[in-house]
Amino acid sequence: MLLERERCLVAQFGRELVRAGLTAGTGGNLSVRDPATGYIAVSPSGMGYDAVTAADAVVVAPDGSVVDGTRRPTSELAMHLGFYAARPDRHAAVHTHSPAATALACLRRPLPAMSYLVALSGRDTVPCAPYADFGSQALADAAVRTADGCDAVLLASHGLLCLGADMDAAFQLAVQLEFCADVYLRCLAAGAEPAPLTKEQMRRARERFGRYGQPKKET
Ligand code: 13P
Ligand code: ZN
Repeated sequence: MLLERERCLVAQFGRELVRAGLTAGTGGNLSVRDPATGYIAVSPSGMGYDAVTAADAVVVAPDGSVVDGTRRPTSELAMHLGFYAARPDRHAAVHTHSPAATALACLRRPLPAMSYLVALSGRDTVPCAPYADFGSQALADAAVRTADGCDAVLLASHGLLCLGADMDAAFQLAVQLEFCADVYLRCLAAGAEPAPLTKEQMRRARERFGRYGQPKKET
């Protein structure tokens, strides 16, 4: 099977998306790029995550043409392709309909530097892209333009998109930003804006994340 490893990741992390409460029903989608070929394995459109197997993932070329697979690819294919074109060093994308991030996106508010975890996005603030129809080129363009190099972007009245060097990183970012958005909403519900971290504090957080956790395995 072409891109078997990447297709397995799409199926596996789709189930993780549900388990982690980062989506509802068939909402959200994910993709993994193979750096060697440039081909991308994407989730199939409108299928329940529990039913999706590696064979249901669709392999596309950078121009969106289907290289392998029998399913119709995610309706947000243009958004995934747009980010891969803009970010050659990012090889996975996770789009969630997670409740807290989506609530923030419905308020059309960016996620500010209210926790050091926001620095995982590579920036001090996660911006919010203007609303456009789901599955449209306009949404893809708005998301890529608004992210402007950030590894995450909120999609107005819709959800969140996260990028990573690999699927683990993209998924972990989605989990942590959902947590941050939830805490941020709790602060707002308590009637106050949380204290913002300074640029220097966020810079140090990013630097520390560079050596956080276990040493990277050689692949
Ligand atoms: P797909 O099922 O086509 O991936 O669409 C879900 C979604 O989140 C649209 O924005
Ligand atoms: Zn969506």
